[in-house]
Amino acid sequence: MVKHKQATYTEFTRKTAKYPKRKEKEYLMLGLMNEAGEVGGAFKKEIRDGVDNTDLIIDELGDVLWYLTRLCDVYNITLSELMDENINKLVRLMSPEDMKEYRGF
Ligand SMILES: [Mg+2]
Repeated sequence: MVKHKQATYTEFTRKTAKYPKRKEKEYLMLGLMNEAGEVGGAFKKEIRDGVDNTDLIIDELGDVLWYLTRLCDVYNITLSELMDENINKLVRLMSPEDMKEYRGF
């Protein structure tokens, strides 16, 4: 189920990718940075304006997901594999005490 949804979403990002393919990595890297900035901007405005921007932050996180998914596709790694790689990296950095707590991941 999860893998099916990931594959469908990756396919969806392929179909909605509108940029020059010869500059794909450049476009996607800049897009990811831009959308991450939009997440930060929405949160910043919560501080400045005293408002709840939760819906906007979630919307912008979705844009981050789109760019992240495109980059994973370009680098031939699935989101699931990326999660596993990240968990493995973090576990390697853990102290033996912390590792006991997170055993099973
Ligand atoms: Mg956005």
